Amino acid sequence: MGGHGVAVGIDLGTTYSCVGVWQDDRVEIIANDQGNRTTPSCVAFTETERFIGDAARNQAALNPHNTIFDSKRLIGRKFTDSTVQSDINLWPFKVVSGSANAPNIIVNYKGVEKQFSPEELSSMVLIKMKDIAEGYLGKEVKDAVVTVPAHFNDSQRQATKDAATIAGLNVLRILVEPTAAAVAYGIDKKLTSSSAGKRTVLVFDLGGGTFDVSLLTIKKDDITVLATAGDTHLGGEDFDNRLLKHFVEEFKRKHRKDISVNAKSLRKLRNACEKAKRVLSYNGMTTIDVDSLYEGIDYCTKITRARFEDLNMDLFMKCVEIVKQCLKDADMDKSWIDDVLLVGGSTRIPKVQQLLQEFFSGKELCKSINPDEAVAYGAAVKAAVLTGAKHHSIMSLVLHDVTPLSLGVEVLGKVMNIIIPRNTTIPTRKQMNYITCVDDQNAMQFLIYEGERSCSTLNNLLGQTTLYGLPPAPRGKVNVMVTFDIDANGVLHVTAECSIAGVKTNITITNDKGRLTKNAIEDMIWEAEMYKAEDEEFKRRIEAMNAFEKYAYDMRNAVKFKQMEEERTIIEAIQWVEAHRSAEADEYESRKRALRSTCSRIKVEKGN
Ligand code: ADP
Ligand code: MG
Repeated sequence: MGGHGVAVGIDLGTTYSCVGVWQDDRVEIIANDQGNRTTPSCVAFTETERFIGDAARNQAALNPHNTIFDSKRLIGRKFTDSTVQSDINLWPFKVVSGSANAPNIIVNYKGVEKQFSPEELSSMVLIKMKDIAEGYLGKEVKDAVVTVPAHFNDSQRQATKDAATIAGLNVLRILVEPTAAAVAYGIDKKLTSSSAGKRTVLVFDLGGGTFDVSLLTIKKDDITVLATAGDTHLGGEDFDNRLLKHFVEEFKRKHRKDISVNAKSLRKLRNACEKAKRVLSYNGMTTIDVDSLYEGIDYCTKITRARFEDLNMDLFMKCVEIVKQCLKDADMDKSWIDDVLLVGGSTRIPKVQQLLQEFFSGKELCKSINPDEAVAYGAAVKAAVLTGAKHHSIMSLVLHDVTPLSLGVEVLGKVMNIIIPRNTTIPTRKQMNYITCVDDQNAMQFLIYEGERSCSTLNNLLGQTTLYGLPPAPRGKVNVMVTFDIDANGVLHVTAECSIAGVKTNITITNDKGRLTKNAIEDMIWEAEMYKAEDEEFKRRIEAMNAFEKYAYDMRNAVKFKQMEEERTIIEAIQWVEAHRSAEADEYESRKRALRSTCSRIKVEKGN
């Protein structure tokens, strides 16, 4: 490890993603080609090309069925999951059940129907983040630390890892978001170098579509997640929607027309609402200005911060209520919290900060790092640590993630027998001994569950494995040792083994969790490369077209008013390019060469 290449930290968010890198003893958050430091987690497919990030989001209003966002809400889940089923109703794109009950998204790309897994769509966002980093660093990026929410289960973590593999990234570590944020703030405040002992930290993460509260303890070098809470459908988009509703009603009053019947008008107005909301975090008032919003009517209006707060007050209060509940569940008093960390773009809203600060009796909130960058910041630090960067502020950090749910097997009577309790620090390895329950039992089946319910079937079935070939013996006389091994990425390996009288059987659990097989991942990597090649060919085409067109215009400007015989050929070239917007790159190039030889005696004035 270390030495070769650079490792980046990537926050793969539900609505926005962010990439950072440790450079010259500090973290650099890398801006994308639009100059934005966060990039929409959005992929769009059209008749001619694929867009990722801002470009995808910007055309969403025109192409709602083929513009895919929220793939993080699907990743590592089953199609039949109740959350998947209810989310489907909210999305303009189509989700179907694919192989092994995995959700697949259907799009129309270049006139052909295509199905993509959430892993593939997330990989496209990761490819974009990789490209952004490579563009800035000027070299290939192979290794990354990728973050996931603390409540992600084993399958969701594994699927996120698969997405990174498809994107051509080697995942150094899957890190949970609040831990990453704590690392980010820990560096600034030198939390870890103080010998004051333990600090208790509350991470308040209010993003675009989700709200997550986590309680952590930081002891010397260790960060542990104590508890998590939140609301999977509460965030910036809800605030945008409240604004949207407000303006739809205002438009009705002013123009007696209901724009909500038109999806494109709504989308345009919603984009304007998000922009206005961002401005209102800094200004007391802003304007909304949308040309030709509906039936040719231009819409221009004002909104104040006070009005925005009023429209959202119940949602803001709900956030504080959830914090209260989380503390209560963890049996903690709010006065025990040493630090409150602000994470997620929506914590820029002054009212949110104010309510939270009031709840914590006026305590200063940690907001020295841009909240929507804090997770990528911490991930970049972790990536540097793992690749051996040497700096006094990161050397001492050792991170500890925990298991979000208890893991165990079903025993007689559908009882959940826990092998690794919830919130165990990982990596970890635990063993448990099981005995036969009938005479001459020759096989033992293990159903592996995660969850906190004592009745196994109320928990989440992760998979199963059966150990065959047990020797004949009276009940209770044959032992089988089961090993649960969770690696540093939170991925579980289960082994069941029987060793009596020199007979030893090893079994590793088969992966029937709906996760991707190695072959499926390889196929997807191949496809990802193919799409990348297509994207590049498209770029080359457009560049060649632009170069040809620009050259033709340069020539036309040079011959203007000069009555030169070349003018006809030049005009023809311009007309041709206007009529041929989707020719091959080679054709543009050869036409440009031809035009160039025709125009060889034309001099272009400098500064033209
Ligand atoms: P994610 O939830 O995907 O992790 P972020 O943490 O980046 O994403 O949060 C994105 C949300 O933050 C969006 O709803 C965005 O509108 C909102 N946001 C970003 N900047 C501001 C701001 N200045 N004021 C209010 N909301 C903001
Ligand atoms: Mg986030």
